[in-house]
Amino acid sequence: RLLAASGLYLTEPVGYTDQPDFINAAALLETELEPLELLHALQAVEKEFGRRREIPKGPRTLDLDLLLYDDIVTDGPELTLPHPEMSQRRFVLAPLADIAPELEHPLSSLTVKEMLDGCGDDFSAVKFDK
Ligand code: ADP
Ligand code: MG
Repeated sequence: RLLAASGLYLTEPVGYTDQPDFINAAALLETELEPLELLHALQAVEKEFGRRREIPKGPRTLDLDLLLYDDIVTDGPELTLPHPEMSQRRFVLAPLADIAPELEHPLSSLTVKEMLDGCGDDFSAVKFDK
């Protein structure tokens, strides 16, 4: 069940920069699926939307990542929670702050808003729909 959805953000590519901007968004879900089951469900949606990936970190049709799942901390072969790069990425934190600014990272205890305020990356993330 969808509890909240952020606006859409036009974001500069990070890492492999010779590509167009991305559109990023965040959603808050309630689910009975376990974390790994949820990851597989997200991967099925990516596939359904014809996900293609020719270059690592390069242009892609759709990328659905799991950022946080309750306070679960795990580092398995398929799933790392919280998502390892979320606290340094403006393109993650800006949309997430729309829907869950007070949500705490289970390792650092920083809120999403605090992580965004302290985010060192200079890549732009500009809200464009509302
Ligand atoms: P990226 O999201 O880094 O651009 P992919 O979407 O191709 O790259 O994901 C690569 C792998 O990352 C997936 O096969 C998945 O098993 C793994 N992974 C580990 N943790 C997560 C997570 N929190 N959310 C999504 N994928 C994850
Ligand atoms: Mg992914």
